[in-house]
Amino acid sequence: MSYDLVVIGTGPGGYVCAIRAAQLGLKVAVVEKRATFGGTCLNIGCIPSKALLHASHLFEEASHNFAKLGIVVDTPKLDHAAFLAFKDQAVEGNTKGVAFLMKKNKIDTFHGTATITAPGKVEVALAAGGSQALEATAIVIATGSDVAKLPGITIDETRVVSSTGAIALEKVPGKLLVVGAGVIGLELGSVWRRVGAEVTVVEYLDRILPGMDLDVAKSFQRILQKQGVAFKLGSKVTGVDTSGETLKVSVEPAAGGAAEVLEADVVLVAIGRVPYTEGLGLEALGVETDKRGRVVTDHYYRTNVPGIFAIGDAIAGPMLAHKAEDEGVAIAELLAGQAGHVNYDVIPAVVYTSPEVASVGKSEEELKEAGIAYKVGKFPFLANGRAKANDETDGFVKVLADETTDRVLGVHIIGVEAGELIHEAAVLMEFGGSSEDLARTCHAHPTRSEAVKEAAMAVEKRAIHM
Ligand code: FAD
Repeated sequence: MSYDLVVIGTGPGGYVCAIRAAQLGLKVAVVEKRATFGGTCLNIGCIPSKALLHASHLFEEASHNFAKLGIVVDTPKLDHAAFLAFKDQAVEGNTKGVAFLMKKNKIDTFHGTATITAPGKVEVALAAGGSQALEATAIVIATGSDVAKLPGITIDETRVVSSTGAIALEKVPGKLLVVGAGVIGLELGSVWRRVGAEVTVVEYLDRILPGMDLDVAKSFQRILQKQGVAFKLGSKVTGVDTSGETLKVSVEPAAGGAAEVLEADVVLVAIGRVPYTEGLGLEALGVETDKRGRVVTDHYYRTNVPGIFAIGDAIAGPMLAHKAEDEGVAIAELLAGQAGHVNYDVIPAVVYTSPEVASVGKSEEELKEAGIAYKVGKFPFLANGRAKANDETDGFVKVLADETTDRVLGVHIIGVEAGELIHEAAVLMEFGGSSEDLARTCHAHPTRSEAVKEAAMAVEKRAIHM
């Protein structure tokens, strides 16, 4: 069977690439080794974690915050099976949606494991048995990523879990120890804390959310601590003794020193993700990968082997679904002779906790390191009418603008719905807008978005409500 394009993997990178290519008239096939489409994101990542974050947030609101709004309810109880079923339904709805889109766009689908046997040739070991040879003018590797393992610690997905086990725990753990204070660890730690777990996060670095603006990370850590999350920063987990009923976790200072033993019912290893290209046959083909196992590509997503391209978590850049999607669109457009591209300076990142944390563009640390002179405008939600009305005043908006041109270079938000608010900054930055542009744009009242406007006004020290 012969195609213009064969896409390997149907995560946000792969399925979006396939759809965009089909829209542009290419004859497209996808290969997926999972039983359902949607990759990590829809099956075991973004979607199930957000469903659990939503449900656990409402549980916490009903447990602790309804009374102050004058809403009296009996103490809520968690129906664990229904809690997980809600998440499973979210996954099913989304993965079925992708299956529908495949049909709608007349994309041929193959369930099985793909190996690239030569440029233009893909062999699929079909899940149902047997194999299928495919020929393609272009092959896009969109095989995503897998959980990074911690040396010496075996993940059994029951008591020592990765994010995959953490979205399906059979009961609420009494004590949950999270290894890694990145986005996934903090999101899933929040889920289980809200429904009753005692959560301790152990992080190697002396800060949480590595890579995010430090001011934001410090403030967010204080908020999480207020919510009851304990942190052990500058510490490393060196072993987990699983022999007893309670797990015994050895933790040492990162800089060296005496170890201590912490007890936990469940340990979540959330130290990051690594590119997944196993079984594709890249070595035999001579496709170049870097030290971290990422497929090396140029600006046009070309590997060093003609006709083979790669996108998403399998290549360099932030491991985010929307980055993979935009690369999927870009490569499809390039293959169709158009000028697809991704603006890597404007890729938002969101932590979907409560409150949310969102950022786009450069952090203060990055600007300092690059020697770029900048101005800062900051505005707290405590001074925002809507946030006060709702009694959701944690957090702030911070706008970083170029000292001389006033162009907005980064925006960082902690606050309820920060993950939605960040997009006005993203659009502004995509068009090269200034803090003055943002400050002069009329914002509806009363909205949290007004805090974004006021932070932009604060760049020139003229915020009204502060
Ligand atoms: P993937 O989604 O990993 O898909 C790759 C697919 O390729 C898989 O389905 C795999 O089965 C298939 N495959 C691999 N090898 C083969 C082969 N040889 N043959 C056939 N098929 C193959 N990102 C966000 O932006 N927002 C979030 O809120 C968010 N939350 C997350 C929460 C968790 C718990 C996790 C784990 C991740 C989260 N992410 C989030 C990250 C996001 O899931 C990834 O960035 C995204 O899925 C990457 O997309 P992708 O298309 O590159 O690869």
